[in-house]
Formats: sequence, structure tokens, C-alpha cells
Amino acid sequence: MTELRTLKVALLGCGNVGAQVARILLDDADMLASRAGARLELVGIAVRNLDAPREVELPHALFTTDAETLVKDADLVIELMGGIEPARTLILTAMRNGACVVTGNKALVAKDGPTLHEEADKAGVQLSYEAAVAGAIPILRPIRDSLSGDRITRVLGIVNGTTNFILDQMDSTGAQFADALAEAQRLGYAEADPTADVEGYDAASKAAILASLSFHTRFSLDDVYCEGISSVTAADIAAAKDAGFVIKLLAIAEKLPAAGRETGTETDAGTGVSVRVHPTLLPREHPLAAVRGAFNAVFIEAENAGELMFYGQGAGGKPTASAVMGDLISAARSIVLGGPGRAETTTGQVSALPITAAVTSYYIGLDVADQPGVLAKIARLFAEHGVSIEIMRQTIHRDADSTIESAELRIVTHRASEAALAATVEAVKSLDVINSVTSVLRVEGV
Ligand code: NAP
Repeated sequence: MTELRTLKVALLGCGNVGAQVARILLDDADMLASRAGARLELVGIAVRNLDAPREVELPHALFTTDAETLVKDADLVIELMGGIEPARTLILTAMRNGACVVTGNKALVAKDGPTLHEEADKAGVQLSYEAAVAGAIPILRPIRDSLSGDRITRVLGIVNGTTNFILDQMDSTGAQFADALAEAQRLGYAEADPTADVEGYDAASKAAILASLSFHTRFSLDDVYCEGISSVTAADIAAAKDAGFVIKLLAIAEKLPAAGRETGTETDAGTGVSVRVHPTLLPREHPLAAVRGAFNAVFIEAENAGELMFYGQGAGGKPTASAVMGDLISAARSIVLGGPGRAETTTGQVSALPITAAVTSYYIGLDVADQPGVLAKIARLFAEHGVSIEIMRQTIHRDADSTIESAELRIVTHRASEAALAATVEAVKSLDVINSVTSVLRVEGV
């Protein structure tokens, strides 16, 4: 095997996300090298306080307070400090020195994206910020690359986990905003000062970034209309619910009807894009209505692709670090290959598993005799096979004289192996209280 070259990586910030990025760089060095086509050597971590406790144990010698010197001698710079300055100056310096930059700084990208991109173009380096929108969810690269041959018409995003948690809490418990916010703070989903989240500013930064990529136009924070959720009441939520809706804080970017659009032109003359953040009613059957708790999701409508949805964890050290690492590998490949990175690698070398090794949840429908002790018999049999029951529901069907015609049992299991489930079903069939097994289906996402 040919010797891989080494690329120097400078990390700015070692907080929630930075510490996880450092851990991955050190622990998964071989895997990263095989995926990037170069060894990624962490040469330093810039912080404010050298003695602050860190989430993960890292060599003390890597730490420095001299971020400026650190970025001048790196091939790749990861900015995870947050805030506008000194992050902005450090990123510009790094790019002027020929380094590719990866950042999660939505506030900076939304505020001053044009300057950053201009400098990246001038220096011929890659600037990427997948982590800036919706944490772990790969959304910017799909918009920028995968959908580059299509026309996006609308983007709807739940891009702030704090507000989604609060609204979900209000919807499911009937709580007022203040109580739901207090619960979010207690559980660590909301900061002590929740303004940036609840007033929609964080979502607005993300809306500007999503709109810029979706519509091939640079939008800044100033272009985004922003209304938060602090005035949403329990009565609003209840009324929406009664009418079959759920309230979500959405970041929306949509192309408004074209006046004289010329199909095929890049500019789509005459069209406009509305970029906004506000509480929004969604039909309860809309895919975004099912996004619960602090999760994020982005729903895209495109002329040819139709409807697409991207869902996952929108924040947190490890999930966000995953997005940062994807950008880092792409940037490293661009350096190694002297152009855009390879689309895929075949270095995993894993083999395909048979279906019997699959692990999932199951739905099982049973036609059973209505006798005392039936449920206990069935539950015992599942337990004996190591298949744990999550839900067991019995429905009795009666005829016109109220005589019991049949009893139906619906079971949803916890995750179990296909082999264990098959053995359980075979055993259940042989029970004298079972008339028939009416269905066995796999369930995902429970
Ligand atoms: P954080 O926990 O507050 O960590 C910030 C780090 O930057 C700390 O290590 C801090 O040093 C260092 N730092 C701050 N100012 C500095 C300065 N002037 N000079 C040197 N070091 C400085 O932040 P985070 O949650 O990891 O977020 C980092 C970035 O990722 C932000 O832009 C954020 O918006 C973005 N992001 C975060 C998440 C998330 O879930 N947390 C999700 C998506 C995007 P000390 O430790 O010495 O104080």
C-alpha cells in the first residue's frame, strides 16, 4: 500500500462539539485516513482557558490559546468556537493561507456568508458548514450537490430542537408556554437565556443558509422575516388540535409564483423567494407533524424529485461532530485529489448478512379463543423466546346478540432478531388457544 500523505488539522474550540471532533480525530485516525486518502493529524486545539475541564480526555500538549498562529500552519481548519469574532478573522486568515475550512457557525455564515465565500473562491479552498443547519442531518450537501440538477420550489424545516420540544410538550400535555419552557430548561434542551431559540433567531440563521443553497442566491439574516413562539398559548395549541393541526416553528423558503419566468434560465427572471420563520399550523398527517421532541427535519419540494424529507438529531456534541467530520473528509479529499472529492469509497470490506440476522420490531396479529388466561399464555411464550412485548391490545368482536364471535390480539414487540421472532411465531401457532396468526409484519421507527 502506498504511503499516505499527512494533512495538518487545526481545531478552534473544544466545547460540546469540538471535544467530540477531537476524540474522533484521535480515536478513528486509521478509518479517517482510509476514507480521506490522507492521514489527518490534529496539530492543535485553540481554546480560551487551558485548564477548563473537557468532555473527553485529550493530550494537554495539543491545547493553545494562540489560535492565530495555529491556523497559519494548517491544511484544514475546523472552527467550532461560535460567535462572530474572532471566528470570522481566523477563518479568513486560514483561507488566505490556503487552508480548507469547516465550521458549524450558523450565526457567522448567515451574517457574513458572502465575504467568507468570496475569500474561499479567491483562495481556491473549500469552505463547508454542514453542521450549521440541523446538526447531524445531511441537508446542505444534498441540496448543493444531489439536487443541483433540479429546481427546488419550497423548503420547510423544523431546524430548532428547543422550540420543537416546547411546542410538542404544549401539544401533548396542554401546558402553557412558560411551563413547557421551564421543562425544556430542566431537561437541558433550552439554555438559561433561551432568547435566540424561542424568538426564532437561531432558526432564522438556518433559514438564510437553506434559502441561499436552495435558490442559488446569497440570502443573509436581514432577508429573513422572523417571529418566535413566545406568544403561542395553550389555547392556540388546543384549537389547532381540535381542527386537526399541530403547531410547529418552521423555517420556510419558497419560490413565489413566477411572473414571466423563462424556463431553463438560471435566474428564473420574475420569481421571488420568501424566507421566513414563524409558528405554523400543519395538518397532523403532514410528515413534519410527526417530528417530536427535540428532533429536526427538513422537507423539500423540487420540480422533478417531488417531496423529500431529511430527519434526525439537530444538535448535541456527537451528532454535530458527525456532520463536521463529513465536511472534513470531503475537504481532505479535495486537497488530495486537487479537485472535488471521490463520491464513494469501498474500503469498508463488510459482508452482507442473511435476513435471519436482522433485528427489528414486529407487529403480530392473532385470532385467539376468548378464554381466561390466554394473554398470560402468549406473553409467557414470547418471554421464553427472548422476545419482549411492547404493546399488547385485545379487541373483542360480538354478534347482534352480544355473543362473542372472536377475539383479536395485536402485539408490537421490542427489537428482536428475525430468528427469535420466527421461532416465537411457530411456537405460538401450536398453542391450543390460537385460531390463526393473521399477520406478521416488520416495524421500523418505533
Ligand atoms: P461551546 O461548547 O460553547 O464551545 C466553544 C469552544 O470555543 C470552547 O472550547 C471555548 O474555549 C472556545 N472559544 C470560544 N471563544 C474563543 C476564543 N475567543 N478563543 C479561543 N477559543 C474560544 O460551543 P459548541 O456548543 O461546541 O458550539 C460550537 C459551534 O458549533 C457554534 O458555532 C455552534 O453554533 C455550532 N453548533 C453547535 C451545536 C451543538 O449542538 N452544540 C449544533 C450545531 C452547531 P473554552 O473551553 O476554553 O472556554
